[in-house]
Amino acid sequence: MNSRRVRVRFAPSPTGPLHIGGVRTALYNYLFAKKHGGDFILRIEDTDQYRLVKGAEQYIIEALQWVGIAPNEGVGFGDGTHYPYRQSERKESYRQYAEKLIASGHAYYAFDTEEDLESLRKTNTNAKYDAVTRLGLKNSLNLSEEETKELLSSNNNYVIRLKVPANEEVVFEDEIRGTVKVNTIEMDDKVLLKSDGMPTYHLANVCDDYVMNISHVIRGEEWLPSAPLHVLLYRFLGWESVMPKFAHLPLLLKPDGNGKLSKRDGDRLGFPVFPLQWTDPQTGEMSSGYKQNGYLPDAVINMLAFLGWNPGGTKEIYTLEELVKAFTIERISHGGAKFDAEKAKWFNHEYIKSKSNVELALLLQPIIENAFGDFDLSYISLACNLIKDRMVLLNDILSFEYLFNSPKKYDEANLAKVAVVKGLLDIDELEASLNSITNFSATEIEAIFKEFATKNQLKVGELMKFLRVSLVGELSGPSIPELIVLIGKETTIVRIRNCFQKL
Ligand code: GLU
Repeated sequence: MNSRRVRVRFAPSPTGPLHIGGVRTALYNYLFAKKHGGDFILRIEDTDQYRLVKGAEQYIIEALQWVGIAPNEGVGFGDGTHYPYRQSERKESYRQYAEKLIASGHAYYAFDTEEDLESLRKTNTNAKYDAVTRLGLKNSLNLSEEETKELLSSNNNYVIRLKVPANEEVVFEDEIRGTVKVNTIEMDDKVLLKSDGMPTYHLANVCDDYVMNISHVIRGEEWLPSAPLHVLLYRFLGWESVMPKFAHLPLLLKPDGNGKLSKRDGDRLGFPVFPLQWTDPQTGEMSSGYKQNGYLPDAVINMLAFLGWNPGGTKEIYTLEELVKAFTIERISHGGAKFDAEKAKWFNHEYIKSKSNVELALLLQPIIENAFGDFDLSYISLACNLIKDRMVLLNDILSFEYLFNSPKKYDEANLAKVAVVKGLLDIDELEASLNSITNFSATEIEAIFKEFATKNQLKVGELMKFLRVSLVGELSGPSIPELIVLIGKETTIVRIRNCFQKL
């Protein structure tokens, strides 16, 4: 790499919530910037005012915040030297470049009405505005200077189009796919400046990348078809020597590999495709989010990093810092990456297990409070220790209600299975045994139960089963002595008495 400072940008259009493919693009930009000690910029590309969706920009900002890859410049993250970072606020800056292109003969004014363009399409459905058809259309290439001037002053309804060369090979290097060649015959004279004075995506994107000194454009494969046009713009604007390097990322595919992962796949297939929950402002339709479904942001990041990239080797758990160190564009895969919902869960499970009890307790406290009431952090930490290994999602805590509340009912079949203790068990004596423990630890409790069982001609296993149904409500759950340490002596006695009555 040359000595140019690495500056990359994530440049979403706020036309809807960012889906995880977008988060992955942001992540790869982030990793690349950090790896090279460069800048990561968030630019909002909102020039297509008709497609803007209320709340989408804020959603993008919150999603990046949640996964922990904050840009160091950009909308919502503080102003760098290239403020503003929202293209609608840079509107006035683009016309000069479109006019520069006209002056150098690389662009022209087009005055065609919708009807003119419609009849062009009627003659041939494949017809596009290009080197051939432009000769018969209403534009400044065919009109006299006077006619053009007059039209410009009398009517605001014109656009500026790029004059794409007739038959020329546009060649550029993509950092992932190698040499890309496209003949201009395939291209059309794209609109650069619209009749409302707004630039199109292409003009704004290229001008901003130039002005903001962007060194690398890392974006989704769906933008590859636009790249030759961008290369022409760099050339015609005289910026070729500072043209960023391009890297077009492989697609994120549906789990069966059959096409691009779409926003609709998520809830249809039972996994979120959005980082955060999203409610469509128009339809009110709600889509689930990783956050609300109980995923940890670092697990989501780790999972996304590996969707289309891998560092080699067998290690799969990487912190963000480790990802930064390991990341290279060379190891981005060329083919599409299949989304794997089970793998996403696996990552989350691993991250939950690796959290300390207190860290996990802090994350669970709001969920617990909402469902079961107030519990202090030390209690929740202790509870985490018992079930951490069995949690895949944070919300799984909801299925461990017995850690917080006494069982409300018992399954008849379970009661029947433990009824054998009925004539043999003296609850007062059991309570006295528990009370006799001086050091209330799991080992002591276990020892006392063994002693108690032997004394009362009970099998230890039978006693434990009964205790399990009493305390958990079911014949499953964690170690009984450890559970008793958590819920305490009084609650234990209450639960045991309650269940005993039902036998
Ligand atoms: N505004 C484009 C988008 O919505 C970004 C394309 C690019 O990164 O150049 O994804």
